[in-house]
Formats: sequence, C-alpha cells, structure tokens
Amino acid sequence: MKLILLGAPGAGKGTQAEKICEKLSIPAISTGNIIREALKNGTQMGLKAKSFIDAGQLVPDEVVIGIIKDRLAQNDCANGFILDGFPRTIPQAEALDEMGVEIDKVIDIEVPDEKITDRMSGRRVCKECGASYHLLYKKPEKEGVCNLCGGELVQRKDDHPDTVLDRLKVYHEQTEPLKDFYAKKGKLRIVEGQEKVEDTTAATFRALED
Ligand code: AMP
Repeated sequence: MKLILLGAPGAGKGTQAEKICEKLSIPAISTGNIIREALKNGTQMGLKAKSFIDAGQLVPDEVVIGIIKDRLAQNDCANGFILDGFPRTIPQAEALDEMGVEIDKVIDIEVPDEKITDRMSGRRVCKECGASYHLLYKKPEKEGVCNLCGGELVQRKDDHPDTVLDRLKVYHEQTEPLKDFYAKKGKLRIVEGQEKVEDTTAATFRALED
C-alpha cells in the first residue's frame, strides 16, 4: 500500500506513521528526518536546508523532490511505503504523479491549531536517532532518555513557540490545499486526532480499511 500522511506539524503524523509501518511492514519515510540526518552529518543538502528549517519555512521543492526520488528508488519501497511530511506543496504532489507513483490513500490527521501549539511545547526528540516523544502523551520509560538508543531527549529548535506559529501559517497556506487536491482524486480520508494516541491509531487503521 502506498500512503501519504497529511496534517499540521505536531498533529501526530510521525507516531501514526510508525504504527502503520509496524502493522503493514512497509517503510515510513519522513523527509523531515532525512533532512535532519543530513544536517547532523553536515552534508551539502543539510547545510542548504538549515536556514529554512530554523525559520519554520519549507525547504525548496526541488531539494525535497530529489530526496524522495532517491528514497523511493530503494528496494524496501517495492511493496509500498508511508510518506510522512511529503508532499507539502502542490508542486511536490504533482512531482509524485510525474514519477508515476500511484498513491492508494491519503490520511489527513486533523488537530485544531490551539491544540497544536500546546502539543508542540511537550514534544521531545532523541538527539541521536531522532525518535519522537511527548512529555504528556508519549513519555519515554526514563525521563530525558530515548527508549530505543539511550540518547538524550531534546526540544527541536523549530518546535519553539514562535517558530511553531510560522510553521502553522506555512501549513495553512502551502500544505492544506493538498486536501482538496487528493479529495478530488477520491483518495482523502480524514482522521480526527484524539487526546490518546491509541484512539487516533484506531481511527487511522479504520481509515485504511474504508
Ligand atoms: P517535519 O519533521 O516533517 O516537521 O519537518 C521539519 C522541517 O523540514 C519542515 O518544517 C521543513 O522546513 C522541512 N521539510 C520536511 N519535509 C518537507 C517537505 N516535504 N517540503 C519542504 N520542506 C520540508
């Protein structure tokens, strides 16, 4: 199955992508994680992306389209994949079409803006492996420490309140039009993000089946 997860930053796409990945045994591909990894490794692409990420802006389309082209060409994508955080603009969605990628479903996780700002303040990520946690909704077993690799948990620079407002603005202006784009193709399924992660996951799994 070839899936796209849509939703505002902090709506819980990454967590749901992990759940679907476990259930369907297909890779979850996060352009945000790929870019952060490149930044950590100091690659040219990472350096190019840094100023955009720090400002809460989108990285230019040609950069992320290149990332996705390379990633989807890898063997583990042969039986399907979940795209988390791509596409984020209409030209990115059109590029997927041009690549001949036939998306089965687009799951849009809806969370009101007021809740997003609350949620983002509690989000923490592992400095080493990028795994994501939340101080209230997805606590690590040991405070401040990653369950998976023991790395230190930190707040992402772009999760600070001012940058979150910029990211939400960018989301509404550039990413939200994708709902219409995929609704017209009959692919859009809306999931209301719930307080409890497991309730959102149950709704996401139901959306995969209808
Ligand atoms: P995320 O972890 O998905 O919230 O992504 C973090 C940041 O990476 C975003 O705020 C953008 O600056 C950049 N980014 C990730 N995916 C994309 C994309 N598809 N298009 C443009 N920029 C992206």
